[in-house]
Parts: sequence; structure tokens; C-alpha cells
Amino acid sequence: MVEVRLVEVSKRFGSVEALKNVTLTFEDGAFTALLGPSGSGKTTLLYIIAGIYKPTSGKVYFGERDVTNLPPNKRNIGLVFQNYALYPHMTVYENIAFPLRLRKLPPSKIDEKVREVAKLLHIEELLDRYPSQLSGGQQQRVAMARALVKEPDVLLLDEPLSNLDALLRVKIRAELKRLQKDLGITTIYVTHDQAEALAMADTVVVIDRGVVQQIGSPDEIYNNPRNLFVATFIGSPPANIITAKVVKRGKEVCAAVGNTLICPDYKIGVRMANLEEVVIAFRPEHAEISEAPLEGMVSFEAEVYAVETLGRENIVTLVVGATPVKVVTKPDVRPQLGSRVYINVPIDKLKYFDPETELNLE
Ligand code: ATP
Repeated sequence: MVEVRLVEVSKRFGSVEALKNVTLTFEDGAFTALLGPSGSGKTTLLYIIAGIYKPTSGKVYFGERDVTNLPPNKRNIGLVFQNYALYPHMTVYENIAFPLRLRKLPPSKIDEKVREVAKLLHIEELLDRYPSQLSGGQQQRVAMARALVKEPDVLLLDEPLSNLDALLRVKIRAELKRLQKDLGITTIYVTHDQAEALAMADTVVVIDRGVVQQIGSPDEIYNNPRNLFVATFIGSPPANIITAKVVKRGKEVCAAVGNTLICPDYKIGVRMANLEEVVIAFRPEHAEISEAPLEGMVSFEAEVYAVETLGRENIVTLVVGATPVKVVTKPDVRPQLGSRVYINVPIDKLKYFDPETELNLE
């Protein structure tokens, strides 16, 4: 187990700046998710940690050791790729044994370790098969076994569940999380799936356009997004955003959306005071639909645009002025299409962002 540290790491591919000055610590023994949309630089970051890519500038440390110029095989890492990259001409047993044979371990030791890790991953009965004779989920386990058998200091996983169907993904998610906790290996997990990142990781690093946008626990990322990108990338459906006019009411600084006036606490008011507009965000699951404004809440007039019934809940799409807004409701809430209703949100669930910098004003 080691802590992994990146210091001012940048990576260029010709004119593309894939990573811009990333400084980041992955804690010893923690499960960290690198989360971002396609092309944000996640894989590049993981490959720099693995030693597959060299940074254009900056340093990588494993503990106190500067590994920036070390090749992958000198870093003691376990790596699992999206496509698993199993050797098709080798049995499962030989696939798992391969990293140990490279290390020239005695055959009896290899056998002991292969069987031990196969047991851990529940693939003991598959050892004689070839990769082509395995399901996607089984291949995933074999790839994990091959990564773990050499007892790596750091486990690097690049979208390891993305080739599996949705049901299996959710099942393996829990198993992987438990396995990581039991083994306590520093784990870095690349994903574009925010639900996966929030569900599994101790820490989530949100990255966009080669820049780290926020680092925090799943709770922090979900409840206190640092900027509009994080607010609208996290959550399913993601946070609603409405642009409001900043208005002064006596000493108070408020935000106006149609007939709705929202006056946040003093600290945010001060930060809003020299803006003309402010972007307000709230999560679809924090809002409630009603025929009349609800006491003690901020209420927006809205028109019902669509209702999606998902069994456990409904997602109602409405328009506030011209802005689409989604609300997650109980299954029995099915407002009439085209009807005029109110969207009610507790004031403490509203977040305020500067439209220019996109930063949270809290
Ligand atoms: P995805 O989820 O689609 O895999 P990602 O977040 O992992 O995306 P990267 O693969 O790290 O993104 O790519 C970041 C940027 O760097 C992209 O603009 C990509 O086109 C570019 N890039 C990545 N690898 C190379 C390469 N070998 N040569 C040139 N450009 C590259």
C-alpha cells in the first residue's frame, strides 16, 4: 500500500492539452474514482500513474519514491483495462500465473498464489478454461485476479465494468467495493458513470477538459458542488439550473425568477450584490410539485411538459419561463400535461453560482 501523488502534471499530445497542471494525492488504502466525461483526461491520468505515458511536465510519487521515469513493470501496479486484455491462447490459470512467471517465482509458490486469488474472486472452477469460453463478468474477474495476484501496491482500474450489462454492473460494484476494503489496496478507478463513482469510492475526483474540477467524498460532491460543471454532471437526472435576475430589496440582495423572489442568506447576498444575474441550481429529488405554493418553500410557477413513469418514481419535466426543469416524484404524482403547477424547493437546497466564473457562491 502506498500513497500516490501527482505534482503539477501536464500532458500534451501535439496540440491537445490532455492534462493541465494536475496536483493530486490519492490516499494510502483509499478507493478513489476519477470521474469525467469522454475526453476529459481520465485515462491519460491513469496511464501516467501506471507509467504507460510519461508526463510532459510534472512528477509522480509512490510514497516518497519518485516514479516519474520508471516503466510500468518497475512500479508494482495491478492494471485492469476496459476490455480486460486477457491472453486468448492461455487458460485462466496461465493468465493469472503470467505475472508471477515473469517474476520467476517457483512453480509451487505460483500455484499457491493463483489458487488463493481464484478463491477470493470465486473463479476456482474456471481455471482450465480459455477466455473465449467465459462470460463478460467471468472475464472481468479473471482480469482482476491477474491484477491482484502480484500483490500490487496500487490497483488501477480503467472502466472495468463498462462492458457488462446493467444488472451485473450493479452486482459487481458492491463486490468490488467490499474486496477493496478487505484488501486495503490503494485503488484508482476510472469511470464516466457518476452513479458508479458515488456508489463505490471513498473520494471522487471530478475532471473536465484536463482540469480537476473538485475532489471530495461522494457526499461533498453531491451536496456541495464547487461549480456548475460538477452540479450538472452529478446526479440522475442532474441538478436543474435556472438563471435569475439579481434585485435589491432594501438592504437585501435577492434573485428573481418570474414572480418568485429568493433572498438567500447575507453571505451569499453579498457575493451576489455586484452581479446582474445569478444561476440557481437544485436537485430534482429535492423539489415537490403542488397545485398551490407550499408554505415555507421557494415556489416557481411552471407548466407540465412530460411525465416519465419509472416504477419506483416518476420524472416530471416542466418549464419555468422557458427553462426545462425536472422533478423526481412519488409514483402516484402524475400531473396533467400542460397544467400550471408550482415547483417547491426548501430554500436551503438552493445553490447559487456566478454565471461568469461558474463557481458556487457559498
Ligand atoms: P474516455 O472516457 O472517452 O476514454 P478520457 O477521459 O479517458 O475519455 P483521455 O483518453 O485521457 O480521455 O483523452 C484526453 C484527451 O487527450 C482527448 O482529447 C484525447 O483525444 C486526447 N488523447 C488521448 N490519448 C491520445 C493520444 N495517444 N494521442 C493523441 N491524443 C490523445
